[in-house]
Amino acid sequence: METKNVLMTIFGGTGDLARRKLYPSLFRLYQKGDLNDDFAVIGTARRPWSDETYHQVIKDSIASFEPSDKEAQDFASHFYYQSHNVKDTSHYDVLKELSDQLDEKYHIQGNRIFYLAMSPNFFGTIVSHLKSQGMMNTKGYHRVIIEKPFGNDYQSAFKLNEEINQVFAEDEIYRIDHYLGKEMIQNISAIRFANLIFESIWNNRYIDNIQISLAEEVGVEERAGYYDKSGALKDMVQNHILQMLSLLAMEPPVAFSEKGIRAEKIKALDSIRMYSEDEVRNNFVRGQYTEGEIDDQHFKGYRDEENVDENSLTETFVAGKFLIDNFRWSGVPFYIRTGKHLTEKGTRINIVFKQVPVNVFKNSITGPHKQNQLDSNVLTIYIQPTEGFSLIMNGKEIGQGFQTEPVKLEHRNSADIIENTPEAYEKLLLDVLNGDGTNFTHWDEVAQSWRIVDRIRQTWDKDQQTPPGYPAGTMGPKEAYQLLEKDGRHWIWEPDEWYRQRGLLK
Ligand code: NAP
Repeated sequence: METKNVLMTIFGGTGDLARRKLYPSLFRLYQKGDLNDDFAVIGTARRPWSDETYHQVIKDSIASFEPSDKEAQDFASHFYYQSHNVKDTSHYDVLKELSDQLDEKYHIQGNRIFYLAMSPNFFGTIVSHLKSQGMMNTKGYHRVIIEKPFGNDYQSAFKLNEEINQVFAEDEIYRIDHYLGKEMIQNISAIRFANLIFESIWNNRYIDNIQISLAEEVGVEERAGYYDKSGALKDMVQNHILQMLSLLAMEPPVAFSEKGIRAEKIKALDSIRMYSEDEVRNNFVRGQYTEGEIDDQHFKGYRDEENVDENSLTETFVAGKFLIDNFRWSGVPFYIRTGKHLTEKGTRINIVFKQVPVNVFKNSITGPHKQNQLDSNVLTIYIQPTEGFSLIMNGKEIGQGFQTEPVKLEHRNSADIIENTPEAYEKLLLDVLNGDGTNFTHWDEVAQSWRIVDRIRQTWDKDQQTPPGYPAGTMGPKEAYQLLEKDGRHWIWEPDEWYRQRGLLK
């Protein structure tokens, strides 16, 4: 198996992301042999930790894998801690010296990955120092991994990109959207391009509408300070939702390669209709959670959360309709919704097919027909926490007469499989080691996503209205339902109904 000689420097090495995601993912790669003796990691942040303290942190972060003491110690021995303030130029000289030493000790041949796992405010400073202080004067490859959010609107993203481009070329920049590392997101392409039955009907002749729901059960929790300045639109729609949409809408790539897929995703994003202000008001709704109760659990309202302005206008929910102006999708709405404190955690995509041209069963002489319309065929892709897909078809109800009923064909990955599937971060880190940018966002995608989202945000900022409330535990404000009702449609996924029918939600 190919193994990677690399020095990875993690800026923000003491932080939450590094401990919860990066160290465990690196350990899994180590266990599998994707990393072995020729790698080293420098963790850096301001805290004055010793290497011993750092090694204990590393061991704690991988404890759930139950490694032997020797295995944990061997792995941790590749990690080095360097206290460093990213604003302090002279500290980069210390980092460089340590990097050069480790390069020699581990026969790394100058391959360097820089992981920026800290606030985006620092990205520009860090990359400019990497260059000015000679940390990239080696003959191997240089790659930078950048966490979201990439900017806070188009202007800031553009400026940030300019700064990074002074130092790294586009193909050396890995902008993380961890959704792209998820198993079922990667499966969207398999479902579409490996199944003739779907690809042949994946267009406006057969698809009535597509729904993307990204529901969080939790509220803002400890991220309130950041979230109150961002809101659901920037936090979720600009990245994860538009990424999912582009994978669903793109044309088949010439080859399943980084270049091929990126080109098609960018074209799909470019085809999303840019709304006028009035169109934004008609096609997008927001919401803010108020206090609520579900299954005997009580939640406070958003404005009562710690670190949230008591008059905050920040949306904790967005629902909207995107239209794509190209031959394949003209006339097919892509409904999206995302929010905090919704009924249930879940990300799923529903592809709703059109009705058959004539319902021949409507006038059947046998059977007490409850309805004149057949149920729609719906293909559902479950992204998380369950993973899999299902297809609703119409079959004949067993027995006398001729009554149709919806039947669900379903494939869900078992808990065992999910447990053993590589975590998104593990897959993405391996991609970076392999130099494969397919599952990362290209600048053109980021830029177009911001342009789309900025238009919505600017309209809302102009209106300065309090977002409609929705009780925590429900699936958003009534306006989100009306958005589809006025088009004669409804949300396919209604977990709130399940709770209501059992008296667990008012
Ligand atoms: P965090 O826990 O607040 O970590 C921030 C890190 O930056 C700490 O290690 C901190 O260490 C270091 N730091 C702050 N100021 C510094 C300075 N002047 N010089 C050197 N180091 C400094 O944040 P996080 O949750 O890990 O998030 C990191 C990035 O990942 C953010 O961009 C976030 O949006 C993104 N992200 C995080 C998650 C997640 O699950 N946590 C998920 C998606 C995206 P010291 O205090 O010791 O200096």
